[in-house]
Amino acid sequence: MKNIILFGPPGVGKGTQSKKLLEKYNLVHLSTGDIFRNELKNETELGKEARKYMDKGELVPDTVVIDMIKGPIEKNLKSNGFIFDGFPRTMAQAEALDAMMSSFNLHISGMIALTANENELINRLQKRAELEGRKDDADINIVKNRLKVYNTETAIVKNHYEKQNKYYEIDGIGTVDEVFERLSIIIDQL
Ligand code: AMP
Repeated sequence: MKNIILFGPPGVGKGTQSKKLLEKYNLVHLSTGDIFRNELKNETELGKEARKYMDKGELVPDTVVIDMIKGPIEKNLKSNGFIFDGFPRTMAQAEALDAMMSSFNLHISGMIALTANENELINRLQKRAELEGRKDDADINIVKNRLKVYNTETAIVKNHYEKQNKYYEIDGIGTVDEVFERLSIIIDQL
């Protein structure tokens, strides 16, 4: 199994690349942001709880996210592997994910980070706001807070996988196909 964490700040292209990767490698896509948006659409209790944080660009509490991810992993133990997109976003989530994977006799193959400068990210998020209508993309204050939260709480998760020699970084600037090619080269080696 290839179990890949696609990492990087909001707007860097994780969702776009995930869609292409899961087709090429036949992987299961687990995006915690997509799960929350789906819960929100269905007006579940989980969705209502998550909205309080999403609307401000804050992180949903670790316990909520960790509890939520276990079921989808357990359901897909016979798959070719997973692409984790937008998770883990804190050290606690990374440790919980490692423990959860071990409990299923699985492990993370690698964390691949996409990079781009902040101006590029803000431009992309503004374009996405027009295309997809996401409330948290449309408001510049929420966007800035998401980038701040990424820098203060999420970026350090890289150290966790670097210590395990599982961290890779690629340039997220370029066409979708160019970035996909860079990602594929790494994934083929995992
Ligand atoms: P995303 O689509 O990944 O940008 O996620 C949208 C929003 O969902 C984030 O701004 C957070 O409020 C919430 N969220 C998604 N994934 C996580 C996570 N792993 N931990 C905490 N909050 C999350």
